[in-house]
Amino acid sequence: MKLAKNLERLGTESAFSILAEAKKLEAQGKEMIHLGLGQPDFKSPKHVVEAAKKAIDDGHHGYVLANGILECREAVSRKIKALYNKDVSPERVMIMPGGKPTMYFAISMIGEPGSEIIHPTPGFPIYESMINYTGAKAVPYDLTEDKDLKFNPEKILSLITDKTRLLVLINPNNPTGSFVEKSSIDFLAEGLKKFPHVAILSDEIYSRQIYDKKEMPTFFNYPDLQERLIVLDGWSKAYSMTGWRMGWSVWPEKLIPHVTKLAINSFSCVNAPSQYAGIAALDGSDDPIHDMMKKFDERRKLIHKGLNDLPGITCSLPGGAFYAFPNISGTGMNGSEFSKKCMHEAGVAIVPGTAFGKTSIDYVRFSFAASKENIQKALEKIKKMLG
Ligand code: PMP
Repeated sequence: MKLAKNLERLGTESAFSILAEAKKLEAQGKEMIHLGLGQPDFKSPKHVVEAAKKAIDDGHHGYVLANGILECREAVSRKIKALYNKDVSPERVMIMPGGKPTMYFAISMIGEPGSEIIHPTPGFPIYESMINYTGAKAVPYDLTEDKDLKFNPEKILSLITDKTRLLVLINPNNPTGSFVEKSSIDFLAEGLKKFPHVAILSDEIYSRQIYDKKEMPTFFNYPDLQERLIVLDGWSKAYSMTGWRMGWSVWPEKLIPHVTKLAINSFSCVNAPSQYAGIAALDGSDDPIHDMMKKFDERRKLIHKGLNDLPGITCSLPGGAFYAFPNISGTGMNGSEFSKKCMHEAGVAIVPGTAFGKTSIDYVRFSFAASKENIQKALEKIKKMLG
């Protein structure tokens, strides 16, 4: 069988293969603490589950609109208004099966050989994978430790050329947990006005997971950029709904027919009961988010201190999401050796930094989507492993 050449350039998300390996070891009787996969360890809110059950009982069993049912897109618009005081027409909203299809569609729509796409490294690996898949040139910008793993807007602007078609931003970032504040985003947005040929894909999936009462610096804040802005967000992280496969994105109006066509060519539409669950999540109380964030904040402080107390490890304090990204080079191991040893010796599943970019050799990602007891236990096991 002969396969398409571009398939060789497609990457993956290693967190899933690490989960499979950890599960295999568990099946063989090894105790395992899972700090690998990036999903909140909470049940979806009760009223969300009830809304999905009701939708099934009410007979919402068929196809719905490819761009999402109107009530769901209207709920997204209402939420954007409530959170950011910005008016976004439901006609610009797409309901997607998770956050990922927005990356897939945006990059396949824009990237092609001869073009350049700027993306963060380390960053969510599907971006680089998709850029390579299209044949576009992936142009990385580094998140460095001297800047607390935050991106540098001046550096990003300096990478723009005539060939640049798209800039990818992830804030707060996965895997670093770093959060870039509004003043830097304002600077970047101002700079981007000088490059009208560059589209922006702002991944704001962790927008509801920011610590220390800081404001989410959404790209909806910049009216001048809206005609070339794609915002990716969704239910997965904020409402602990990863398995429902519910994401939303906002697109420039002129791209909606294209993205709708890509939806029709692939998944047709998102299942209706999930969309009713999504409406209940957006229109319901935000208390479940606040309760979850209180727990995440306690875990963040615990893991940050615990990792810094370990010999050879330094870690900056995550400002958003639920990831810690320590430098482990002082242990004498690289990230890949360290995470393998953690899994096989200590029974702690984590992800090596290189899963998120070639340069992150000295790093590993801990997802603190686990109980404080398990985080404490994992830290003790790693301490013992390090001798
Ligand atoms: N963006 C980022 C930065 C992510 O970390 C993730 C998931 N880990 C996604 C998007 C995709 O989310 P979903 O599960 O909704 O596809």
